[in-house]
Amino acid sequence: MHAGCVAHLSSLGCSKNLVALCFFALLLISSAAAQSAADAGREWTAAHRQQILDQFTRLLTIPNVASDTANIRRNAETLLGMLKERGVDSRLLTIADAPPVVYGEIPVPNAQHTIVFYAHYDGQPVTPTDWVGGDPFKPISRMENGEERIYARSASDDKAAILAQLTALDALRAARIPLRSNIRFVWEGEEEAGSPHLGQILDANRDLITGDVWLICDGPVDQSGAQSVVFGARGDTHLEIRVYGPGRELHSGHYGNWAPNPAMMLAQLLAGMKDESGRVLIPHFYDGIEPLSPLEQEAIAKAPKNDEKLKHELRLGHVDGGGKPLLELLNDPTLNINGISSGRTGSRANNVIPATATVDLDLRLVVGIDWREQQNRVIDYVRSQGYYVSEREPDARTLRANPKVAFVIRDSGYNAVRTAMDLPIAEDGRQRTPRSD
Ligand SMILES: [Zn+2]
Repeated sequence: MHAGCVAHLSSLGCSKNLVALCFFALLLISSAAAQSAADAGREWTAAHRQQILDQFTRLLTIPNVASDTANIRRNAETLLGMLKERGVDSRLLTIADAPPVVYGEIPVPNAQHTIVFYAHYDGQPVTPTDWVGGDPFKPISRMENGEERIYARSASDDKAAILAQLTALDALRAARIPLRSNIRFVWEGEEEAGSPHLGQILDANRDLITGDVWLICDGPVDQSGAQSVVFGARGDTHLEIRVYGPGRELHSGHYGNWAPNPAMMLAQLLAGMKDESGRVLIPHFYDGIEPLSPLEQEAIAKAPKNDEKLKHELRLGHVDGGGKPLLELLNDPTLNINGISSGRTGSRANNVIPATATVDLDLRLVVGIDWREQQNRVIDYVRSQGYYVSEREPDARTLRANPKVAFVIRDSGYNAVRTAMDLPIAEDGRQRTPRSD
């Protein structure tokens, strides 16, 4: 569920939050073989389409919500079997009461590097009745935009990445293209539950999971369709803010113009946080951002430009950012309203002054800004607008004693990371990467 990156081992502690779209063959192979490895992958996939689809379908039929202990175990055992079938030295890394990490390792004699491929085999919780077709674990094939697509829970996020890794391995072997690096697979079973045990499992298996880089294979394809490796991921944190009107909903005809309306108060508070172009006006919001290096700027400048195509596809008459391209804006922190609620609309609308209004703010982060600090900046701004800020649900006394009260709930968060593009192994991959077209 993320963007993408190559994660350097030093940032392993939060590696689960990094995600990458990985071009699997990228760093595995010898220079001269680079193009032929990509070709080998394409040829193998075309020639073994049905076999690959059958394997994928089988994998997708196993329910994979992290809390479903029995089925999560079945997923792990199935993946272990798929590695063993390929002769990969593999095992389950377990601790009590947690889905196992599926681990595999291919040692390569005289290898200069070790590359760890991360993916996760669990999926987002799902309600079958809300799923088109009624069964998220019964894969269906459908034509979409002129291509055949498979729909099932985790078909993209993130079982596809696992099957891509196995398929790439099959293709390279079939073409007798030797691996140049040691390969390690780390496939997690509770990423969508927040990875509560990943750190513990990794700590207990430091030697096994160490590598020059982690490639986090969990993220969207670039909108251009080009293969890409992304050298960083934004951090994220949330704040819920509730403001208060009357202690109970009031009739708008009887109390309108007198009783303050919390929806309007919240709208005014939020409107003050950004200007017309989407620039955040909260003091210090952009302080501390670690600037992009010349190499990083160059990479952004050379990356595919998808903005116009996206504007068209998304029916956007305008975009935020004062004319800066999307890729550049991804390197700024955001202040985004995830959801907002107060009163009712549509057929449920009625003539009330609501009692409360609530917003969920989502703060995306970049390197140099700590998630706790960013929460504080927003909270300080709320306070500067005349609100008494309470981090506990305010009682009647508090509400009576203060002109305006905001109840703030801080969610946890994680910081952004960036992997240096001039690491030797990154340079290596860059130079050997065939241009995708
Ligand atoms: Zn994911």
